[in-house]
Order: sequence, then C-alpha cells, then structure tokens
Amino acid sequence: MDYLELSDRLKNYLLLIEKETGLPVKIFQSPDLGIKGARAAFNYHPDYTVVVLNTSEPRLSVDVERSVAHEATHGYILHKLGFCRAVFTEEATDDVKKKVNVLFSMVEDLTVNRIIPEHGFPPFGSEYLPMLKKEIEVASQGETQGEEFYSNFTSDMEFEDIIMVSRYILAWGFLKYYPLPSGIRSTLQKFLDAYSKAYPHHYPHARKVKEIIIKHNVFTAEGECWSMQEIIKLWGFEGVVKTVSTKDIKF
Ligand SMILES: [Zn+2]
Repeated sequence: MDYLELSDRLKNYLLLIEKETGLPVKIFQSPDLGIKGARAAFNYHPDYTVVVLNTSEPRLSVDVERSVAHEATHGYILHKLGFCRAVFTEEATDDVKKKVNVLFSMVEDLTVNRIIPEHGFPPFGSEYLPMLKKEIEVASQGETQGEEFYSNFTSDMEFEDIIMVSRYILAWGFLKYYPLPSGIRSTLQKFLDAYSKAYPHHYPHARKVKEIIIKHNVFTAEGECWSMQEIIKLWGFEGVVKTVSTKDIKF
C-alpha cells in the first residue's frame, strides 16, 4: 500500500482484527469491483482478510480509512464471530453470486457499521448523506425516475431491485439501531417515507427483509445465518447457495 498512508488508529484496528482472527489483513487495489459505483469490497478467503479498494475515483482519506475498517470488519465477523457466508453450488452463475453477495452485505453491514464506531470510525462515510438526499429527490419524482436512477448501477432489473432494497435497509438500519443526531435522523426518515410511497414494486421486498431482520437478532451469528436463509428464499436463490459458518453455529 504505497498510495495510502494508514493512520495509527487504522493500523491498530487492523492489528486487532489480525490478532482476533489469526489471519493477516491484505489490502489490494482494483479499478473495477464488479459493481458500478462500488468503492471498496471484502473478498472471502479462508487464510486472509482481503480488502479491495477501488482507487479509480479520488476520495477523502478519512473515507478511505473508514472503508478499509468497514471491509476488514466483514472479515472479523465471518472469521471470528462465525457469521454465515454464501457457499455456491457449481450451477450458480457469476450473476447470481453477485446478487447473493449484495444480500449478505446488506445484512452484515448492520453489524459492521455498529462495530466500527467503537473503534473510532464513523458509521458511514462523508459520501452517504449527499447521496441519500439525491435519492430522496429521485424518489419524490416517482418509480419510473427512481428505477432510471438505480439503473445507472446495473442494467439487470433483478439486481436493480436488490440494490434498491439494500439502500432501504441501510437507511432503516441506521435509524433503528444507531444513535445519530436529530438532523440526520430526519433525513433518514424522509428517505424511508419517500421510498415507501414511490416504489410499489420494491418496497414490499424491503418490508419483508425488514421483518426477517427484526425477527432474528442479526447482530449474532445465529441470527444472521437464519436471516440469510430466509432472505435468499425471497429471491429464489436457495437451490444454488448455502449459508455456511466458519464456526459450529447452531441454526
Ligand atoms: Zn459492507
């Protein structure tokens, strides 16, 4: 990592993750993470915690640091806490894998974004609220405009639906599970209200995911594993993916 000077805070946090998981953290750079607009990703590897950064766009160093802390924490909850990950059958296409991975991230992010503030990193980056305000504006114009906006990230309608649902769950999770200043809370609430009115073809999916998350304690490995099994079924992917824990978790 020559372009990125890690702060002592991040170095210490990554050392802690290495110690807790017993696995080295590796940071790679790539101009393409497979999802348009994605700035960072966690890649599962049995022997490492792999963080991949998209370095094609300039970002504030505080956001890059938060991204590294966020993605490495995905490794922590999988390797140390035994959260489930997706294991695919041979029939699973790259397309399905991409979709399922976004569904897993959506649920894991609730826990990840709760852990990183305990180590001095913000729950979301400086890019999040401006984007959310844009999304409120788009939703207020109706479903066609909304779908057109999210189609900038993919031309696949099912994937677009999954991305839209994950945007709802992220905002809803911040509002439900995190202590945030009232100005931010009201922006999050505005987005959820606009979304539920604007997207009759997507909100019912988001609502079902929300109900599954509320039913289980997704901040534990068991709760996350159960939730993921149910969420995978919502999209009909259960034939090509299994939810597997690195630990002997009963679920
Ligand atoms: Zn994440």
